[in-house]
Amino acid sequence: MSENINPYEIALQQLKIATERLGLDQWIYEVLKHPKRSIVVSIPVKMDNGETRVFMGYRVQHIDALGPFKGGIRYHPKVDLDEVKALAMWMTWKCAVAGIPYGGAKGGIAVDANKLSMAELERLTRRYTSMIMDIIGPYRDVPAPDVNTDAQIMAWILDTYSQFKGYLVPEVVTGKPVYLGGSEVRSEATAMGVFYCTREALEDKSVKGKRIVIQGFGKVGWNAARILYDHGAKVIGVSDSKGGIMSQEGLNPYKVYEHKAKTGSVINFPGVKTITNEELLELECDVLIPAAIENTITKENAGNIKARIIVEGANGPTTPQADKILIEKGVKVVPDILANTGGVTVSYFEWVQNLHREHWTREEVLRKLETMMVRAFYNVKNLAEKNEVTMREAALMLGVGRVAEALKTLGLWP
Ligand code: GLU
Repeated sequence: MSENINPYEIALQQLKIATERLGLDQWIYEVLKHPKRSIVVSIPVKMDNGETRVFMGYRVQHIDALGPFKGGIRYHPKVDLDEVKALAMWMTWKCAVAGIPYGGAKGGIAVDANKLSMAELERLTRRYTSMIMDIIGPYRDVPAPDVNTDAQIMAWILDTYSQFKGYLVPEVVTGKPVYLGGSEVRSEATAMGVFYCTREALEDKSVKGKRIVIQGFGKVGWNAARILYDHGAKVIGVSDSKGGIMSQEGLNPYKVYEHKAKTGSVINFPGVKTITNEELLELECDVLIPAAIENTITKENAGNIKARIIVEGANGPTTPQADKILIEKGVKVVPDILANTGGVTVSYFEWVQNLHREHWTREEVLRKLETMMVRAFYNVKNLAEKNEVTMREAALMLGVGRVAEALKTLGLWP
């Protein structure tokens, strides 16, 4: 039977497992299953050729028992309500695992952003912002970048929101350009967190000489490749949506980045072998880092994976059936809701800096990030050992457990 890979169904299955392990009250499970608020908007945009097109946009707010909603906005043709609901739920657990005072949210627009001009992208972003205006805000819901969105898009959201308010409100979004109140390190923060988790997951706590394979060469994949390379790891394979490349001697990510900037893809990088995405996932290596989108490691390919450790830079890259296969094979998985919390953790730092009108140095941000990531890593690892469960289950137990405790204490009104 083919595997059900609807991300929201997967998120619900995970919640059920955590609920059973934690023995949560029925009412809490019932509340956690549903996002508190979901909005779907049809966004009309005047295209450069004079035509008008309508794009579907979403913002889903899961549970805000621990603080204001927080989560990125992605621009991707496959975005739909169920995906955004899953991603919002994962954000709730992620913030709780990271120990930052937020609830989970996510937004998205079903669009192939690469096919839009900058002017079209700006009109789309501003119109979408105006349509979700009432439900976002510094103490309500703070958007951030995600797949195919960046500091420029955050600046347009900030400007649109501020135009309506009548004054500049930098704390309404994170992941802004540094000169507009963005935090140092934010643009590479998710990758930095992936690096800390990779290091801690290795027996000798060093990435030096370790063979790394990275699927995806966007913000997370490219920065992870660069940071790991700078720390002496051997990046033997990388890929993007067009395919992958591999070299047993190791790639220089900076050179690959230049090649991608010139040609639009990592493939056909001179002097190395071009391979398929499937082949890339099955390379023999110490650490495999999926850093693209959901459902990359499925029951179809999990059996062929030869990595010893998987560190999930993406959200939801491994399906539940693949997970079972990996457990049987003894592959250690550092789950997404722990491994990729670096981004939202520095987003939290950005928000705190904005609210206090402060600007922290790069060293200060890195020091704080490392402390929080390492603490979260061992909180999860120790819980996994204590309960004899995987790190994924432990992370879910920690995240769901913290939110459930908050909900229980707040109570159900009326
Ligand atoms: N989009 C990122 C994530 O999935 C970051 C969210 C944020 O910074 O609010 O974790």
